[in-house]
Amino acid sequence: MSAWCVVVAAGRGARAGLGRNKVFYRHRGRSILNRCLDNLAAMELFDGIVLVIAREDAQAYDELCAREGACPLVRALAYGGASRRESVLSGLRAVPADAEIVAVQDAARPFTPREVALATLESARAHGSGVISTPVVDTIKLIGPDGKVRTPDRDSLRAVQTPQAFDFKKLLAAHERAERENLPVTDDAMLFEHYYGDVRLVTCKGAEQNVKLTTKADFDMLDRKELPDFRVGHGYDAHRLATGRKLVLCGVEVAHDRGLDGHSDADVAVHALMDALLGALGLGDIGRLFPDSDPAYEGISSMRLLEEVMLRVRGTGFAVVNADVTIVAQRPKLLPYMAAMRKNLAEALGVAEDRVNVKATTTERMGFEGEELGVSAQAVALLARQAGEEA
Ligand code: MG
Repeated sequence: MSAWCVVVAAGRGARAGLGRNKVFYRHRGRSILNRCLDNLAAMELFDGIVLVIAREDAQAYDELCAREGACPLVRALAYGGASRRESVLSGLRAVPADAEIVAVQDAARPFTPREVALATLESARAHGSGVISTPVVDTIKLIGPDGKVRTPDRDSLRAVQTPQAFDFKKLLAAHERAERENLPVTDDAMLFEHYYGDVRLVTCKGAEQNVKLTTKADFDMLDRKELPDFRVGHGYDAHRLATGRKLVLCGVEVAHDRGLDGHSDADVAVHALMDALLGALGLGDIGRLFPDSDPAYEGISSMRLLEEVMLRVRGTGFAVVNADVTIVAQRPKLLPYMAAMRKNLAEALGVAEDRVNVKATTTERMGFEGEELGVSAQAVALLARQAGEEA
């Protein structure tokens, strides 16, 4: 029995607040529309897809196909009408006349499980219709024309989704008639009920994953759920060498004839690391957080400031995955201090020592570090959202 699918993508997506038809929104480099089409094609349940788009989206669809490739199962394109009903009819008219079953699917449902689609098709084959439905979780209220609120029995209510599958000839005939009678309907099941007196609802495990992306929050949630939430940040700092100052790097006092000049202890390595952490979280930089015009920070250990930065990191729900710090100095040799530096930073960042690296390089006497005018440092840090934390 041949089965076709009409995918309706002609909506305006106004509720998603994305400023365009939401199905053209790209998620992880692929549009919602193509994800929906790919998902349907991978089911190997359909002989072909008719895609219904708004006429004004024709160019956007061409561009999408050029960029992402066109789904080979899309056999025909139809232009949508002013209402969903008109759009579905336009799609049905493009389905080959010998099709036996047709499923109508929202393009905003890119994650429909195969077993959900299969259940609707099997029901349509056996009974003429199959509409995926789920029990209602919320208590629903009916508001009468008089404004009076009534509460229907929740057990008697079902929420319906797409795909909705039907005997093709019956659905097409019903749509043609609805067009003539200008019947207002919100889905195909409603139209089928209206003309044939009944429609088959099917329940299926996996229906709860069959989400329809509707509001901006749905898309934001998708990003949060699907993307591993890693953030990387980079920091750079440089301080001038001066006599009469201690040289402190990664919280370790290094024996040298000069030290770094600055408002705090001028620990250039920790400054770069703090900027990497703040950068990863989009929190600006240490200059903004600890202004050097503030006497509170005069001579302060930068390790103390790092503790404050870490409080902010944890406050956003993130934890450090690893950090890598490079100190650029012509002299002195820093190797004897490396182990202590690494231990200091690991403790402050709350990670095992193998997640922190501190290294040093000279510049072969080139530039301000090579001429021993100053010392610079660079750092990168990777952060990950802690499990269970929500922004
Ligand atoms: Mg600094």
